[in-house]
Amino acid sequence: MTTMTGNRLVDFDEVLTRYEPVIGLETHVELGTASKMFCGCSTTFGAEPNTQTCPVCLGLPGSLPVANEAAIEATIRIGLALGCRIANWCRFARKNYFYPDIPKGFQTTQYDEPLATAGHLDVEVDGETYRVEIERVHLEEDTGKNLHVGGATGRIHGADHSLIDYNRAGIPLVEIVTRPIPGAGAKAPEVARAYVTELREILLALGVSEVRMEQGNLRCDVNTSLAPIGDLEWGTRTETKNVNSLRSVERAVRFEMRRQAAVLDAGERVLQETRHFHEDTGTTSPGRSKEEATDYRYFPEPDLVPVAPDEEWVAKLGATLPELPAARRARLTEEWGISPTEMAWLVNAGAVELVSETVAAGASPADARKWWLGELARRANDAGIDLAALAVTPAQVAELVGLVSAGTVNDQLARQALDGVLAGEGSPTEVVEARGLAVMGESDELVTAVDAAIEGNPEVAEKVRGGKVQAIGALVGAVMKTTRGKADAATVKRMLEERLLG
Ligand SMILES: [Zn+2]
Repeated sequence: MTTMTGNRLVDFDEVLTRYEPVIGLETHVELGTASKMFCGCSTTFGAEPNTQTCPVCLGLPGSLPVANEAAIEATIRIGLALGCRIANWCRFARKNYFYPDIPKGFQTTQYDEPLATAGHLDVEVDGETYRVEIERVHLEEDTGKNLHVGGATGRIHGADHSLIDYNRAGIPLVEIVTRPIPGAGAKAPEVARAYVTELREILLALGVSEVRMEQGNLRCDVNTSLAPIGDLEWGTRTETKNVNSLRSVERAVRFEMRRQAAVLDAGERVLQETRHFHEDTGTTSPGRSKEEATDYRYFPEPDLVPVAPDEEWVAKLGATLPELPAARRARLTEEWGISPTEMAWLVNAGAVELVSETVAAGASPADARKWWLGELARRANDAGIDLAALAVTPAQVAELVGLVSAGTVNDQLARQALDGVLAGEGSPTEVVEARGLAVMGESDELVTAVDAAIEGNPEVAEKVRGGKVQAIGALVGAVMKTTRGKADAATVKRMLEERLLG
């Protein structure tokens, strides 16, 4: 098998017969603070380019930074949620390198004195728990954004000019780095995805970031290496940059494993480099070589005072932690009377919150799950969007469930009512009213339809009268057809029986 770039690939299952993967993840999270890391500029997304800048974040001479306390608190809370040790004294550092989107000529980050270290996050894949060790959580500032114009893929290669937007320069960024994760074997791609998924859930629960991957609030670099099974040393790793969806995290690891196996099979060596992930093909291509370590000439930032969180402050922040997603899932699994596997389906479907809110709005857990995992999941899938992006609220789903329980609509009519809700026609009750979807009672209209079905199918009616009771189904079907599904099948059956057998 070959790719566009001419790489050979080994079949995934075959990779595991000869090699052991080790993965690692570096995740950048843009904090949702109102102002930037070292100045008072706004962080609102989508503003006109270069309207949210000042002498500090533009790196003008003589400007002095001041650290954003809310950003430090958010970072400490993230560290605590990941079970990290919080440093009682640490400093920011200058990472020196020139890049057009770094107007200062250095990035203010943390180097050998991160705010949080030595944590862990347990993730579950197919009922098995994998412990991901967290090496460090540190605070830094985001860069500006280069826009390469004229190239095919938005990359600098092939572009005819570039523009820079400094609105993003200086937005607080938390970097969360795992230790290498060995031992996941064939599950390595899924463990990588499960880790980012769980981390995202935690960040959401903490309320520290919007964590929208498509907006770049959460960006992932995925490290992958392979070593021959039995080797004590790990292989050379590649670093796939800015993988911007959960699905892509999994695909990037899978692809790198298959590509690296082909390189090693050919007796060649894997180059230590960054790689770009291509969303359209699911492949990676070479970026920058990392064969030689870059010397960034780190040194402690002289313009900022050290950060020294005392025990009291850390304890106060610890008390603000919400119920974390894993604990919450365990509680809901019990409350809803479902199995861990069923909870895993809800997690995979991104439906835990939606079901929870639907239950809170009055639906039974069973009904809420049935709708979100069934009809609604199917529609989200058809539309190619996330469940949460469907134009229906949990409260509306609960209302729909209520209409079914009350017998106002049957399942089929409820699905038609859902069509109307999704089309923006109003609440389920309003749609049922406007579209005339309520189940027909034993009305004149239904009596007429039942009589017409008997008259229109004399042979079937005769069979039923003669004792072939199961033939009644054809008559029920005829009534359902004339009433366009609005009759209640059980009622229709009873009315037919009364007429033919009673
Ligand atoms: Zn600024």
